[in-house]
This record gives sequence, C-alpha cells and structure tokens, in this order.
Amino acid sequence: MAATTEQVTEPILEVSGLVKHYPLTRGILFKKQVGSVKAVDGVDFTLAKGETLGIVGESGCGKSTVARLLCSLERPTAGSIRFKGEEITRLSGRALKAVRRNIQMVFQDPYTSLNPRMTVGDIVGEPYDIHPEVAPKGDRRRRVQELLDVVGLDPEYVNRYPHQFSGGQRQRIGIARGLALRPDIIVADEPVSALDVSIQAQVINLLDRLQAEFDLSYVFIAHDLSIVRHISDRVGVMYLGRIMEIGTEEEIYEHPTHPYTQALLSAVPVPDPDAREHRERIILTGDVPSPTLIPSGCRFRTRCWKAQERCALEVPPLAVPAVLADVSGPAAHDSACLFAEEKRVVPPEVVPPEELSGNGNGPG
Ligand code: ADP
Ligand code: MG
Repeated sequence: MAATTEQVTEPILEVSGLVKHYPLTRGILFKKQVGSVKAVDGVDFTLAKGETLGIVGESGCGKSTVARLLCSLERPTAGSIRFKGEEITRLSGRALKAVRRNIQMVFQDPYTSLNPRMTVGDIVGEPYDIHPEVAPKGDRRRRVQELLDVVGLDPEYVNRYPHQFSGGQRQRIGIARGLALRPDIIVADEPVSALDVSIQAQVINLLDRLQAEFDLSYVFIAHDLSIVRHISDRVGVMYLGRIMEIGTEEEIYEHPTHPYTQALLSAVPVPDPDAREHRERIILTGDVPSPTLIPSGCRFRTRCWKAQERCALEVPPLAVPAVLADVSGPAAHDSACLFAEEKRVVPPEVVPPEELSGNGNGPG
C-alpha cells in the first residue's frame, strides 16, 4: 500500500475510453458476424506511481480483458492507454517489446499457468529468453535464485517441477516470474482466487511487501470486495464492461454511493455475528445481461432497485456524485449513477485482522 494516496505526480498509467469488442460469429465454414461481445466498453482510470488500484466485479464483467489490454497482450478496439505519458496502444516491434517488459501480469490460476514440464528455474527465467538484454546467460541462474529468495522460496528449488509445490508456493513462482524483468507495474489478475483463505492472506502480504521493496504500482483484480481492501489504495467496481464507481478504499467501503457497489458490499462476509445480524443484505434480482446485449442508458438498471425511466435514456457519467460534491476532495470518489447516494452497508471491519497478520514469508 502506498504511504500516501495523494496524486502529486503524473500518473504512471492513464486509461481512457478503453473498449474491447470481440466479433460474435455464426457458422464454421462461412463465418458471419452477427454481433459483438462488448467485453470492455468504456473504461477510464488512472494509476499513480506506487499505488494499488483494486478492480472488482463479478465473473464475466471484463476484468481479465482489461488486464490483457493493460499488458499489451491484446489491442483495444478503441481508447487510450498511456504509460508514463506515452500512448502504448499502437506500438509495435521494439517499442512494444519494451513496454511489455515494464507492465507484467501475474495470472489467476497457479495450477494451470505454469508449464508442468519446465523446472522452476526455467519458468522464472523464461522472460530472459525474450529479453536477453536484461540478464546475460551466465548470470541467469543466480538471478533466478535471488528471485526465489525474494518471494520466500528456497533458492535450492530451481530444479524442481511445479507439481512438487503447493498452490501458494506456485503462486510465489508466478510472482517471481512477474518480477524477473523488474517491471514498473504488475497487473495481478485474481492472483489469490484459486487459493485457500489462509494462504490468500500470505500471498497478499507478500505482494504488499514486494511493492515497497521494488517500488511497484499494482492493478489488483478480484471478483469480490473482501479481498482487495487490505492491499488497495483505490478501488474500482466494474459491471458489464464499465467502471460503476471508483474511489479511495475508504470512500468505496465506508461511503459507497452506487447501488451496485452497495449490493456487492452487502454480500461481503462479516465475521462478527452481531454485526451480521444488524446489517442489510441487498439481493439483486435477475442475472447479469449478456455483454452482447447491453441495456440502454445505465447498464445496471435492469437489476437496480432504484431504476427509473431516466435510467434507460441517459448513460450516467462516472463523476463526483452531487451528494458528495461538498464532502469529497477532487478525484476522491466517482460514481456512475444518476441517483447516487451514500449508504453504509458493512460494519467497519470487513476482514478479521488475524487473517491478514501473516508476514508474507510463510511457507504457503
Ligand atoms: P472476467 O475476467 O471479469 O471474468 P473476461 O474479461 O474474461 O471477464 O470476459 C468478459 C466477457 O468477454 C465475457 O463475456 C467473455 O466471455 C468475453 N470474452 C473474453 N475474451 C473473449 C474472446 N477472446 N472472444 C470472445 N469473447 C471473449
Ligand atoms: Mg477473469
């Protein structure tokens, strides 16, 4: 977590109007486009140096697509991504390679993302095959061992294979690999979703420690709000390809204004039975619409208990809600709801402190 959330310098990453539509085709021999999957449909945010932005939303809302776009693994349909002020969405060749080195991804599932036939040393050192300029051949083994040490694994493990490790250890291997090229930004796509709760905290604490040690900026993706609070400085809540609400961790958890954020927060597990009993549970009706058929106006309106006629006609801008205009400082909190109002849904302590007390160095 950054020591300060004030954005004093130019952001390291600026995303605006980001769109990724995939063609929806029918027929095998004669493919015909019959529509498009609007996986990401107008995303804006900034990331300050040293900051962690949490991105949260239900499965299918476009989180992994945003992650791939940020890491230049795919090109957006429209919109802009600026890294240190430079537009990176249209780069190719060497310039593309250079920017990819600086924005690295840590993947969700440590069971499937590591090649089972490669040794840990080869997995962690593989980025050096693509960027040999970073580590001369003779220097690799030493570097890989240092990386293993940094993520809390025994450097002697270099010759072992992924199946010889636990889930938490495998994710540490994935993190070591992500660090190999000394990136400025790590995009972690649900890095702990496949792990046991007790191990999740250790991996989160490890990421937290590495951030300070290597001066990293993080985009940390998760499908629920309970995981990201501890590590995030700011949090963005996504629904059907768009950010519905974004703000400082405290604003989002203590003063949520978007009905969708409020509903998600009301589903966060609360350890204290007393608090559990007294809080309101918001159950959304219906299912998330298909990203091929996005509702007009506010895309959340089909499941929103506050929806009115206006909501079908106007796309609410992601902006400081009128109710907060006096309270929030600039950029503290934006909400894409025409009827945004504050509603406290969760007691202050969301995650039991003992679950987050690991030092990130445990065996995991
Ligand atoms: P999340 O990570 O939030 O679960 P994704 O970004 O994986 O969401 O997917 C968002 C939507 O885009 C989903 O409906 C998914 O099926 C669709 N999608 C993702 N990748 C592709 C692709 N390569 N081609 C077509 N549709 C895709
Ligand atoms: Mg995903």
